Amino acid sequence: MASQEKNRRARSGKISSPSKISRAGTNSRASGISHVSEATSASEITCANDASDTFQTTRAAGTSRTAKTTDVPKASRATKSERIPKFHRIIEISRSDLSALSLVANGGFGGSRALLRPKKLSAAGINFVFSCAEAKKGETLALSLKEEAAGGKIVALIEVTDVYLPSADEIKGSIFQNARAGVNAVEGEIRIVEDELKDKALQIRKIKNELQSPKISAFFTCADPIHRVHERLMRHMIDKADLTVIFLTATAKPDALPAALRKKALEYLLENFFVAQRVMLIDLSELEIFSDHDKPVLECIIAKNLGANKVVFGQKHKHIELFFDGGGMHTILDELQKRGEIEILLMPEYVYCEKCKVLVSVKNCPHGGHHHVHYRTQNLKTLLHAGILPPAIFMRKEISAMILSELFPARFENLQKLYDELFPNGGILQSHDESEFYEQLMQLYQTSALKT
Ligand SMILES: [Zn+2]
Repeated sequence: MASQEKNRRARSGKISSPSKISRAGTNSRASGISHVSEATSASEITCANDASDTFQTTRAAGTSRTAKTTDVPKASRATKSERIPKFHRIIEISRSDLSALSLVANGGFGGSRALLRPKKLSAAGINFVFSCAEAKKGETLALSLKEEAAGGKIVALIEVTDVYLPSADEIKGSIFQNARAGVNAVEGEIRIVEDELKDKALQIRKIKNELQSPKISAFFTCADPIHRVHERLMRHMIDKADLTVIFLTATAKPDALPAALRKKALEYLLENFFVAQRVMLIDLSELEIFSDHDKPVLECIIAKNLGANKVVFGQKHKHIELFFDGGGMHTILDELQKRGEIEILLMPEYVYCEKCKVLVSVKNCPHGGHHHVHYRTQNLKTLLHAGILPPAIFMRKEISAMILSELFPARFENLQKLYDELFPNGGILQSHDESEFYEQLMQLYQTSALKT
């Protein structure tokens, strides 16, 4: 748990603590607060003193760039461009909303990169109704994350170009969690303060521009947990493409592994077992609209708009089966395919065959289902949540070790003693963490002697 917490903090706490920010000037304070306090609904607008302080300091004369964010990776780029301009209101948003805004701002939904009313911008039944009760045309809205409201860190800005009252139906279809009935919504330009997706989108575009007929594949997974078949699929994609983009999606399953842990395991796999230039991870794990991985059309639209020309799905995916049964989704994807905008590749189910003794597809192995071991994430999670190390044919030992050590922190009373007495150590006693313990344990499980 400790390292989970660390991860969470590492992600959420990228920025300066309030004390770091609030060193700058103080005189513009009064005017700024008056703007903010004109605003109405307390639930929507953060009038907290801390938030106002932060705002004041970030826009004090000559100091308005968020230069205190220098402890953030890639900060130099972010800090140069991120002058926080004057704004009129602060709105709290969720991480999911920030992720959706970043996708819109980077053209992930095609058409516009700005927030527009549903008639002008929608994708696969999703629209972009973003509520702000008191916003007026010409205003600038500053957005901060709910959990960071006390710090008042501004994560995005919206320059309002128009306001409108959305219908109840439109609100239901909004990607944003802040969409509320009876409340005005805004159209406007979006600016994300630290936009990781922007860098990734630029990288993809660069590769596309450099090659004559670039092949860019996309694969969506919630990596819950990432296992050997995922790896097999990704390797297949990498062999066939110039760049493979792995999108990490959210999951709403109650027993899901924490997003930070899923991301960490996926990053570990990519960094240690794949060629870095050929694969890219785009983190959409906060975007709750993908919660059940049930929107293949939306996945294709995002992949296409960010530059991919092929999306790979597993054939066993229940929503894909559904999708091939026909219906509206089928038609939309067909159209995309017909126009040559995107190619959809359905991979057959992969299993471990005890006769072939390797990972095979059900299409190319002759031995039949009774010799096959299936890869069901649900079962792997059941083992992991029970504290059992899944066999290495399912998952890499480093990954299951990483997951178990986070799910069961400080599980053994005297880990060091257990480690030193269980495993051969060549007389050198070193300290080992729990993750190493599981890896060593797996090594012993796999020892071929005394098998029966
Ligand atoms: Zn076989």
